[in-house]
Amino acid sequence: MAMVHAPTTAMALPFSPKKSLGQHFLVDPNTARNIVGALRAPSGSPIIEIGPGTGALTHLLREQYDTVVALEVDSRAVEYLRATFPGLRVRHADVLKADWGVLAREHGQPLRVIGNLPYYITSPILFGLLAQRQHVVEAVLMVQRELAERIIASPQTKEYGVPSVLVQVYAQAELLFRVSRNVFSPKPAVESAVIRLAFASGPNVSQALLARVVRTAFNQRRKMLHNSLGAWTRTQGIALPHGWGRKRAEDLPPSAFVELAHYLNEHATGI
Ligand code: SAM
Repeated sequence: MAMVHAPTTAMALPFSPKKSLGQHFLVDPNTARNIVGALRAPSGSPIIEIGPGTGALTHLLREQYDTVVALEVDSRAVEYLRATFPGLRVRHADVLKADWGVLAREHGQPLRVIGNLPYYITSPILFGLLAQRQHVVEAVLMVQRELAERIIASPQTKEYGVPSVLVQVYAQAELLFRVSRNVFSPKPAVESAVIRLAFASGPNVSQALLARVVRTAFNQRRKMLHNSLGAWTRTQGIALPHGWGRKRAEDLPPSAFVELAHYLNEHATGI
């Protein structure tokens, strides 16, 4: 049985936050409740929390879910969590080394992931989840607001870019709510937002090839594909499909990038 967990206040953090680990602890119980409430997981689902820190989300997760596994890299937080939540499965681990497939097999079903992410590694965490999406059903993540807006952006907006395409191809993405800097201790420099991703199997084309096409095209987002992608495709000995050379990355929906990746896969030998 867990000890009653008093919400952490700015005055009473159990250890001093380390900037190098992206430690900005949530000190507002309402925000914590809204984040945990965004999971659509049934109570029997295995929940993996990334970076539990001082346990602001963890104690709410434990109230609702039978199985909560917390992955935390900071030994001080691990010690604190083990003392505060007897029986909680806290793994002293680097989330970037997490094998979501192994975790899912341990629990006999795909995972639900939640976390107020350490922002210095948001992208590798996100792309790691996308790459192993067959093992993860949903993710509720606090990220930088700017990234959240890019993830859900539509073509022909200034926010639309690589994260929009690569996330939207493999997941249904929603921006659930924005979060003020004032609910953290210490206050981060940037605003935050909570997103929910519902993963899908996605198209039958190599994720690495798609990522390369999207990244290369968006390197020069306003240039015609003939210029932005052309140099690379010519090294593969192929021309872009008829009519595509004059299109621009920022105008193309995610499905068009998938179509292009399929085409390149079929026509190129060296990719
Ligand atoms: N969940 C807590 C909250 O909402 O108050 C803490 C969030 S804080 C923004 C990010 C947490 O991720 C910290 O506890 C930090 O130690 C942890 N963390 C940083 N890098 C990590 C890594 N590579 N693997 C696992 N946890 C990490």
